[in-house]
Amino acid sequence: MLRVEMIQAGQGDCIWIEYGEESGDLHRILIDGGVSGTYKTVKKRIEALPADQRHFDLLVITHIDGDHIAGILKLFEEKSLSISFDDIWFNAYRHLGRVSRSKSIRQAEKLSNYLEQASLNWNKAFNGKAVCVDKRKKSTVVTLSGGMEITLYSPTKKALSDLKPDWTKAIIKAGISPFLRAFETETAEPDEAVMPALPLPDLKVLAESRSDKDSSLTNGSSIAFVAGYEGKKMLFSGDAHADILLNSIKREHPDCEPLYLDLFKVPHHGSDGNVTKKLLERIRCSRYLVSTNGAQHHHPDRVAMARLICYGGHQPDIYFNYLSAYTEVWRDARLQKQYRFTAHYPQEDAEGISIVFNNEKTENKKI
Ligand SMILES: [Zn+2]
Repeated sequence: MLRVEMIQAGQGDCIWIEYGEESGDLHRILIDGGVSGTYKTVKKRIEALPADQRHFDLLVITHIDGDHIAGILKLFEEKSLSISFDDIWFNAYRHLGRVSRSKSIRQAEKLSNYLEQASLNWNKAFNGKAVCVDKRKKSTVVTLSGGMEITLYSPTKKALSDLKPDWTKAIIKAGISPFLRAFETETAEPDEAVMPALPLPDLKVLAESRSDKDSSLTNGSSIAFVAGYEGKKMLFSGDAHADILLNSIKREHPDCEPLYLDLFKVPHHGSDGNVTKKLLERIRCSRYLVSTNGAQHHHPDRVAMARLICYGGHQPDIYFNYLSAYTEVWRDARLQKQYRFTAHYPQEDAEGISIVFNNEKTENKKI
């Protein structure tokens, strides 16, 4: 059994993966914790587990932006849950490369302090060093207990060291400083006033629009990986840069062979600077996950969605974890028929959307 749940996480990401035997040997991975409010949903999901099963084989904190990390900070503040982790992947300041660390930066690293004081397994699979791709190798692979195989695609060493000068600014923005209260602004609701106008232009034309590359250094430091289990391959990309992902695909497949996937959580909430035609042309996939409520950055971008529809393979299925002003436009049945894609949304009272791989069967159900 393999189940991927894209929990509603504001404009961020929070992905809960389960694999193994439903009646016993069940394993879990958590990728990011969304905005601070997402914590309530994750807490509920953990509390629903028997006390002896509150264990994750892996927690990945893809990068330090508030819409990925704030919910995790809240989770760590909660002592009553008694959760345990085999390994926690998180790149902190110390992992960005050689440079002397200032005291103030060390003080501000609340999450790092927590990981250290609680003696948790931090980047254990990388001997405590940075979680990053080794460009000298064809691929960087880690096998988790239960047989989940993780192949790292991002970040590169360079993307980590590029972030170094901006680290303090980035952690303050993410609300990690002990002097700031948990992230407030990132939990904003989508702004209805900036709803894009209808009707949509020709999607083939839209897909060809020029986009600026994502220049965010924190996004570029995202941990992204392909998770493989029982023949299924899934790319979880955080907010990674398209060229870093593309370079990893090329390194792994120098013969121009495409990357075959069963699921792709698209980078940066469906931003057109990250979901590029070049990247999609190198991937063969039919299921795409888009995680955002559209707050702040009005994701997903229409251009990115047009690219998924035009270059995302034969009749792609696109899963949204919110029905928002920015995702609703893709619900139109005529549009889906004309461009041959299917858009999936959570059930009305659900807190996310799930995909279950069960002998080729997938289902879209309430979590
Ligand atoms: Zn994000």
